[in-house]
Parts: sequence; C-alpha cells; structure tokens
Amino acid sequence: MPSQPIQYLKIAVPTPLRRLFTYTSNQSLSEQAIGCRVWVPFGRRRLLAVIAAETSTNTPNGVKLKSIEEVIDREPLWPKELWAMLNWAAQYYQHALGDVLNTAMPALLRQGKAAEYPSQLIWSLTPEGEHVDLTSLQRAPRQRAIMQALQQSELSDTALREQFPGCSEVIKKLSSRNWLQTYEQKGQADIWQGDGEAGPDLNAEQKSAVNSITDSLGQYKTFLLEGVTGSGKTEVYLHTIEACIKQGRQALVLIPEIGLTPQMIQRFSKRLGCRIGVLHSGLSDSERLHTWLAARCGDLDVVLGTRSAIFTAMKDIGLVIVDEEHDASYKQQDSFRYSARDLAIWRASHNNAPIVLGSATPSLESLSNVQQGRSNLLTLKQRAGNAKPPQLKLLDMRSQPIDEGLSDRLVQVMKTHLDNNQQVLLFLNRRGFSPTLMCHDCGWIAHCPRCETNMTYHQIDKRLRCHHCGSERRADHTCGDCQSENLLNIGAGTERIETALQKRFQDVDVIRIDRDTTRRKGSLEKLLQKVQAGQRQILIGTQMLAKGHHFPNVTMVGIIDADQGLHSPEFRAPERMAQLILQVAGRAGRAEQPGEVYIQTHHPDHPQVLTLIQSGYPEFARQLLAERKEVGLPPYTAMAIFRAEAVDRHSAQDFLQQIRQCLAPLANEQIQLYGAMPAPMEKRAGRFRAQLIVQASSRAKLQAFLARGLEHIENLKAYKVRWSLDVDPIDTY
Ligand code: ADP
Ligand code: ZN
Ligand code: ZN
Repeated sequence: MPSQPIQYLKIAVPTPLRRLFTYTSNQSLSEQAIGCRVWVPFGRRRLLAVIAAETSTNTPNGVKLKSIEEVIDREPLWPKELWAMLNWAAQYYQHALGDVLNTAMPALLRQGKAAEYPSQLIWSLTPEGEHVDLTSLQRAPRQRAIMQALQQSELSDTALREQFPGCSEVIKKLSSRNWLQTYEQKGQADIWQGDGEAGPDLNAEQKSAVNSITDSLGQYKTFLLEGVTGSGKTEVYLHTIEACIKQGRQALVLIPEIGLTPQMIQRFSKRLGCRIGVLHSGLSDSERLHTWLAARCGDLDVVLGTRSAIFTAMKDIGLVIVDEEHDASYKQQDSFRYSARDLAIWRASHNNAPIVLGSATPSLESLSNVQQGRSNLLTLKQRAGNAKPPQLKLLDMRSQPIDEGLSDRLVQVMKTHLDNNQQVLLFLNRRGFSPTLMCHDCGWIAHCPRCETNMTYHQIDKRLRCHHCGSERRADHTCGDCQSENLLNIGAGTERIETALQKRFQDVDVIRIDRDTTRRKGSLEKLLQKVQAGQRQILIGTQMLAKGHHFPNVTMVGIIDADQGLHSPEFRAPERMAQLILQVAGRAGRAEQPGEVYIQTHHPDHPQVLTLIQSGYPEFARQLLAERKEVGLPPYTAMAIFRAEAVDRHSAQDFLQQIRQCLAPLANEQIQLYGAMPAPMEKRAGRFRAQLIVQASSRAKLQAFLARGLEHIENLKAYKVRWSLDVDPIDTY
C-alpha cells in the first residue's frame, strides 16, 4: 500500500506568540481542513488548536516536526466570512491568531466538544388530548399519569422515558387515540419564537429612517441613528429587522452588557415573528454552544447578544445593528482587545449588509465618520408618543449650604416632586460610604497597600475596600501615623447619600442600586420591580441605573457630582461625562409627565458644561471634535498603547523603553511615540505599570508600523514583565 505523503500544516495555537506553528499530518487533509480544530502536542501540554493554512510539502531543514494528534472537526468551524474576519482581526489588533480563535469559540468548543447541534423529540398533547377528561382514565393509571404530566408541560422524549420507565406501549396507545404529538426540537438553544405583534404607527422621522435603511438592504452602508432616549430607535430597529427577515436573511443585533434586560428580550420576541437567539453572559456553556450552532446552521433569524455575540457564526447576515454604539462595554479590555462595534462594521461590509449604529450620544468616532461622508446620519428629534424631552438645569454649588453632598436647592426640588407622588432618581457614580478616610489631626489617609489610591469606606460592614484591586480590611479606628482617633470620612458615595436621604425623608422609600446592593443573583430584578410598582420613591445609584432601564414614574433626576469628568487626564473623559449625564437624564419623563434634570456643579461657567446644557450634545460633540482635530487626537489620528507591569518599580518602564528603541528607527513624521512613562495610576494591585503610546496619522499607517515593529519586539526578553498591546484603546489608563 503506498504510504500517504506527509502534509505540513500551519496551526494556530492558543499562545500569546504572534505566529503559526508547523505540524505534520499523516492523514491527507484537503483545503476544507482550514478552520478545523485539532489536538496538538505543545511543549509538555496538549492543546486545542486550529488548522490555519496548508504549507509547502518540503521538510523545513533540520527541524523535527511534531504531528497533529487528532483532527476534531470534519468541516471548518467558521463560515468563510467569519474566518476571514477573525484572521483580519488578529492582524488589525496585532494579536495571536490562536488566541483570537480561542476567544471566538464558545467555551465547550474550546474544550473539544463536537460542534454538533443535537436534536431531540418533544412530546405534547394534541388539541384533542388537551380536552381529555382525566377521570375517564381511572382504570388506566399509567395513561392517566402521562396525560397529567403532559397537561402540565411538554416533555422531551428522554425526560418522558426517565419519568415513566418502560412506557413505550402506553405512549403508543395514547398516540393511536390521537392524543399525543411530537415535534423535533434542535439543541437547547435559547430560542424565542417571536409573536410578531404589530407595534405603534411610526412617526415621520422614524418612517424616513426605516426607509433609508431598508432601501439599502443587500448592500453595505453605514448609518448612524442619533436619537434621544425614548425617541423610538428600538422601533426603527424592529422594522428594519422585519424587512431583512422577509428577504430570508439574518440580523445580528448587539446590545451593551447592561442593556440586555429581560424587558428588551421580551420586546423583541413579542414584536418579531421569527426565531430569535439570545447570547449573553448568563447562559450556561451548553446553552451558549447550542445557540451558536443554531445560528450557524441558519435556524435563527435574529441573534441578539452582547459583545462576544459578534463572533456568532451566521449563515447569511443581511443586517447588523449596534445599539448604544458609544458604550464602552463593546471594547474588550483584556487579552484580545477587540472592539465589537468596529468588527460589526467589518462584518456588515463583507456581507453586503447595512449596519445601524444607534445612540442618543454617539461616539466621536461615529460622528466623525458622518462628517467625512463615510456614514449616513439619521436623526430622531422628537420623543416618540407623547413623552416630552427633559430639561437640563445647572445647580451652582459654590458657597451654597451643602449637607452630605446634597444642596438645599436640590432637596427643595426633590420635595416638590415627591409631594406630587412622583419618583426622584439621584445619580452618583461612586459606591460605598466615603472615598476617603482621613485623620483630622495629621492629614493621614487610608491608602490601599497594593495600589496608589485611597480605600473606600463601607459603613454597612465597617470595612475599607479598594475599588481597583479588591483588597479590603477592617476600617481603622485610629490614624496610621499619629494614632489619633479623630478620623473623618471625606466625600460621599451612594451609601452615604442613601443614609442622608433616609434621615431627611423619613416617610419615603429610598432604594439604592449599585454593585453592593445587587451582588446576589436576582436582587437587581427585585429592586427594579419595586421601583416599577411604586410611587413616591427616591432611587440612588451608580451607572447601573443609567442604562437600559425604563422608569416611567421618575420625573426628576439629580446628578450629584458632574465635576468628576472635568479634571481627568483621560482625553475621553468629557465625552464620557456628557454621555453618562444624558443617559441618566434620559431616565426622566419617559411616560406622560415631563422630566426635570438638575446637575450639581462647582463649575457652572465651564465652557464644556455650558455648551452641553445650553446647546445639547450635538453641538458639544462638534466642539470636542474640533478640539481633538486641533491637537491631533483620535478619531483624527490612530492610537495604540503598549502597557507593561511588573512587581518592582522600574522593570515595566525599562521594558517599554526597549520597545521604544525597537520602534524608534521605524518611526517617521507620520508616527509619534510618547513614553515610556508611568501609567496615570502607577501602582495597582501590587504592580507598577507603565505605558508607551503610539500615535499615527491614520489607521493604515499605524497598522503597517506596528506589524513591522512587532517582529523586533517579539525577540525581546520580557523578564518578569507582563506586557500587552491595545490598538484603538478607549482609555489611556
Ligand atoms: P429608544 O430605543 O430610542 O429609547 P423606544 O423605541 O424604546 O426608544 O421608544 C420609547 C417608547 O416609545 C417605547 O415605549 C415605544 O413603544 C414607544 N414608541 C416608539 N415609537 C412610537 C410611535 N411611533 N408611536 C407611539 N409610541 C412609540
Ligand atoms: Zn493622624
Ligand atoms: Zn488596591
């Protein structure tokens, strides 16, 4: 028997190394094998990897190659389009392909589970069976028991046979009486069969937006749908999705982590008459796998999911929607640092599909794309239905009486709304009781031993916690320097405001919503239900309150501290601050009553604050864009950050200095290097951090530069240093 020629394959192995590894295979694998999973020996380990390319059949000189142990898949895991995107993303984000592919796989596939979509038989009652009077089955107790069980709920074949061992004959009998029926259910995918109910009639703006989008079904076109909260963006999504499904294609809808509420899922499944799959972090591994497989084989019409849903294999994408496109949760912040929004644009363009980026407060990136003619702006100016837009008012805090963070004016207005039996929402993006515990005698401050920051005091358990690294200890009773007992809590977090409100408004329910009050599973839902059902309540919370939720009875919003974003070294801080303020403001007056929004500030004359209040977000954003252009910041330039951290003070910065030396000879006037320098918070979780910023005149220039630079950098020895590269970072932290 002639022996098979040995084949050489390039394998993407999940390691941080940005290169492929050559293995041999004694099975002959066709072109089709690219994208299939394999088990390979790697060092002393056995790793799940992916065939990335076939290579020449010449034995590389003098290298003893290892052989693939096992080919797992018979066909590529990813459709061509998604495979191309993943390869593109590995290059664009300068990340190891093996690790990119690993990130893009549902967990069970990563463990080597078969990519098969199992189906099962489901038993239920026929309409006739439903009307059977069970007392008539007195003499046939087994028939009766099965009928009774199925009256309660349908059962899978396995479940039925488990519950009623040896029931085949009985089932046959019941079936022959035409009481039972079966259907085949595929997998345990989280599939919602939508009801397809009609929604409200669209207003003129909505109609025109829907028309523009549906007119471009079948071709790639980017739309920015700008509309204040409550202006009916979701209705626009629903109509365009319907049109896409009618053409027999699939829609991919991305929602920020916190926006994917049960209400949202219900709204989609009520309105769309099609099969909807939902992908979010709350799924079990097998649910996630099955939904992924269902989408891949075309059993889903709509995939609705958070960031990583961008990696869903789909048969035929006809429309992509990214809701709240400015939201930071679309950017993965560790390991493979991709932007799901940007990958969504890639997918739309390679599927000849329109993409809709929706937001009340679009990112400056998306606005500049509109300015440069790369994206089409659709605006919804009116609030849908009868809701009136909230009015924003500044509360000048300078030399005003303030008690526990609340000015007298704010309290006055709150009283008026509460007296009218309405709800008030207060926003403060800082949890805990107070951010600083200080000695009144000597000025000592309780610091985190592992970070360069203060510990936050939590009154409920009298503990100090670091919100950056999680370390905690019992709160000090005495000063760490002078042993004085005269310790002060400086500043206020949500816990402190809650306590103050309870004292001031003794007959009003105060509900606090932040990470501390919602740790237990289901507790957020419980609190939200309490708010939905109640009147005359005060809600106090962090940005958990700002997004996604609908509070029809809230007529007043108070922003307790608008100044947080004004003094940050982070160049995106003003943009974030404005987005957050408007998002919180959007919670007010969503129903029939108009809302009022009060913003406490010590900088009522700050030009950015004034523009936002007087002229609104579009003008505010236009000014910020002009500033960014002037100083050459993104989106007018492209940025990447090398970050490094080490246990000792100098290694990280020294290492980045070496990177700089590798890069410097390649730089030209289109490329600028800043650093190596300490990170804004130099010490965090016991490690010293440094950064090196690369800024280029365009993304293409940045790409080419990084690709060349990394070849040199890979050879550096990162001794005791952890380092990473972040392309298009969303913060310079
Ligand atoms: P957004 O997504 O912009 O926040 P939604 O689509 O959720 O806005 O709409 C806000 C509310 O207004 C929802 O309750 C929605 O059902 C309702 N709504 C949307 N469009 C209309 C319309 N044309 N007529 C009446 N009500 C509408
Ligand atoms: Zn002291
Ligand atoms: Zn810490």
